[in-house]
Amino acid sequence: PKRIYTFRQGDAERTADAVASLGLKGANLALLASLDAPVPPGFTIATHAWREMKGAGGDLPQSLKADLRSAVEWLEEVTGRRFGGDHFPLLLAVRTSAGTQMPGLAESVLDVGLTDRTVEIVASELHDTAFAYRSYRRFIESYAALVFDADLAEFEDLADREKDRVGWRLEPRNASEWRMLIGRYHDFLERELDAVVPQTPLQQLVEVVQASFASWRSLGASNHRMLHAIPENAGLAVTIHGMIFNERNQKSGRGRALSRDLSTGKAALTGEFAPGGRIEAFDAVPEPVDLATLAADANSAFAPVIADLARHVRRIEAHIGDAVEVEFMVGDGELFLMQSRSARREAAEAVRVAVELVADGIIEPQEAILRIDPASLDLLLHPAIDRDAGLSVLARGMGASPGAASGEIAFTSERAQAMAAESRPVILVRNETHPEDIHGMHVAEGVLTIRGGTTSHAAVVARGIGKPCVTGAGSLRINAERGLLHAGDRVLREGDRITIDGSSGEVIEGAVPLIRPSLTGDFATLMSFADTARRMGVRTNAETPHEARAARSFGAEGIGLCRTEHMFFEGDRIQAMREMILASDETGRRRALDKLLPIQRSDFIELFEIMAGLPVTIRLLDPPLHEFLPKSESEIAETALQLAVDEAFVRQRIAALEEFNPMLGHRGCRLAISYPEIAEMQARAIFEAAIEAGERAGAAVVPEIMVPLVSLRRELDFLKARIDAVASDVMAERERRIDYLVGTMIELPRAIIRADTIAEAAEFFSFGTNDLTQTVYGISRDDAANFLSTYVRQGILTRDPFQTVDVDGVGEMIALACEKARRTKPDISLGVCGEQGGDPASIAFFEETGLDYVSCSPFRVPIARLAAAQSAI
Ligand code: PEP
Ligand code: MG
Repeated sequence: PKRIYTFRQGDAERTADAVASLGLKGANLALLASLDAPVPPGFTIATHAWREMKGAGGDLPQSLKADLRSAVEWLEEVTGRRFGGDHFPLLLAVRTSAGTQMPGLAESVLDVGLTDRTVEIVASELHDTAFAYRSYRRFIESYAALVFDADLAEFEDLADREKDRVGWRLEPRNASEWRMLIGRYHDFLERELDAVVPQTPLQQLVEVVQASFASWRSLGASNHRMLHAIPENAGLAVTIHGMIFNERNQKSGRGRALSRDLSTGKAALTGEFAPGGRIEAFDAVPEPVDLATLAADANSAFAPVIADLARHVRRIEAHIGDAVEVEFMVGDGELFLMQSRSARREAAEAVRVAVELVADGIIEPQEAILRIDPASLDLLLHPAIDRDAGLSVLARGMGASPGAASGEIAFTSERAQAMAAESRPVILVRNETHPEDIHGMHVAEGVLTIRGGTTSHAAVVARGIGKPCVTGAGSLRINAERGLLHAGDRVLREGDRITIDGSSGEVIEGAVPLIRPSLTGDFATLMSFADTARRMGVRTNAETPHEARAARSFGAEGIGLCRTEHMFFEGDRIQAMREMILASDETGRRRALDKLLPIQRSDFIELFEIMAGLPVTIRLLDPPLHEFLPKSESEIAETALQLAVDEAFVRQRIAALEEFNPMLGHRGCRLAISYPEIAEMQARAIFEAAIEAGERAGAAVVPEIMVPLVSLRRELDFLKARIDAVASDVMAERERRIDYLVGTMIELPRAIIRADTIAEAAEFFSFGTNDLTQTVYGISRDDAANFLSTYVRQGILTRDPFQTVDVDGVGEMIALACEKARRTKPDISLGVCGEQGGDPASIAFFEETGLDYVSCSPFRVPIARLAAAQSAI
């Protein structure tokens, strides 16, 4: 096969898989050339040749040398210059070109072809000795570094000695001083390294290409490949093109141009340009100028070049259908495009640009949908600090995971969990975090560490779970014994409020107002594209009015999971709950439940009103009861006092409710079967709320009641009978008809196997992938973090199965349950409400499986809408 592919403006030799054979730079130059952009003419030695060379033990094979010679001859013909010639000798730039960005590969070598002889020719033809020799000096240094592995610091020492000896200041003043310096370079290489920079241009080129290829095996490049799972034989290409003297004079320069203003997404030439023309190599580089300003200045010497540039940039953008960033050079008034890429962009910019590209007719809405990474939207949805509020900054660290959060200081994960259990917002403050802190991090609003950088444990985990995080706030001191946080002379203690900004790294005293992002402008437009394209519905998991409103503003189409237990933690409701649990008989329980009924009812009314006719799925009480019980001595004493019982009695009830394996114990529908009065109270609250909300709105509310943790059809039958009985009681009392659905969560393996039978009794299924993953794997969801990371590191698992559905195991079971359920009830509604409902990769699987909707936390709703659209396209 062909080893070398040439390119010049308007013409490039084609190959099927351009990036794989020519690398990023080579493929890009070929693309630009074929789009008639003014690229410097040149050629790329393909990865295929690199593979041949590996077989030949590292030296360039004769056949490749011959091809290289012909390619140079081609280039001589195209440019009208000769490599090593007597007039305007051809000089070349040699650049490695891999299929991905890869640190550790050889740097570009410029001005290949300069020799003791040709440097003189260039100097006299350009009338610029300093420029020619400066280039030659740089060439020798980079050649020696690449080919002989020479230490550049040695050249610096050498030049310093020569400077002191001869008496020049920054660089040699004339040709003879330059010659002397170059002579020292040659002597040094020969003496210390027994090496000679070849004085034949072709020989130089062969050596540079060979050493560039060899840099594939450098430590840096090997490590990078290992880290990113890039195959060893992916291979390296080398691109060679004519030099452009962008530093030469005031009609030269280099810059970066973008096809769009990324702050608005609108088409406009932006970027910057640094003119050339330094007098001495060490002169300050001229300040880059703003391209838009330059473009507007009709009198600038660069005006025609910039106009030309704008035209090319527009053409490239239209061709690739994306905002483009171009590196360009100007050599003595002539424009060259060196490289183009899709403009690197942050999430907000990416959304803006995609929407504007649709508005400009460059891409279709579907393309815009596919182009945005749903996970990146997360960044746009994090709350930000209201900068108009007076801020008292306690310390500055590193912004390690974006978003702002306020909360009360907790110094340990245990305290964070205890405080969160009381519905207090928490900022976990640690010197550094360790794997056992994961639970504290999960319940915290944000994490602050005194030590560590942006890749510390805290930073990595926080980004993974989407919590704001500041690390390395080194001016703070934790006094663990006394539970104090010192910030200069300020002293804070547990429970004091602070705010962290995981973007700026600031730690601020008090609870600063946060601005919730809203779905407006281009973001809203993108979402409307997504809504047209998707099939699945997107609901939210919410129980508080605040969450429900946020979810609605993010486009949730109802509530897919209202975890009623969360409603019992607010304010003093927990006391009524404790009274119910501690009661020794049904009468006692019913008395406590009577207190809870009106509270639940008004909660539900509010949710129904916020959801305004959209479906609301309410789950019966799910967790083991001991979760509601007092834990600390002081709480036990307080509970005993309030309920007018002995502390000993409280302790005895707590002990009686203790379980070895609570998550597999007395929870879910098992609770309601033991204590039907709980389910009856909840059902009554739901029905009464539905009637009331329906009357207020003038439109019927159809609640969906969901029974958790079912494994037997009879469990569902038992509870459905109770729920139906309450419904007819309420209807009779209120003399109103209500429609409602009763369904079940599918979160146990037995329920999967018996899905056909269970479906006979259920009007809907909602897959609880948290518990389902836990029970299918037999891995505790609360303890998994400690060892799953090892599994991932060891390659035993590629992802955390609690985050992304395990398609082969849990996924297959979900598909099986769907198939069985539809066999008995073809129109049964099927949804998912575990964490995976907001995970883009899982959403793709749920689309494939044909689920009707996903339900996820409010801030993931836009992510889910976009991911659902992508998977439907
Ligand atoms: C589940 O198990 O997936 C679920 C949604 O319920 P919970 O997380 O409340 O157990
Ligand atoms: Mg569950």
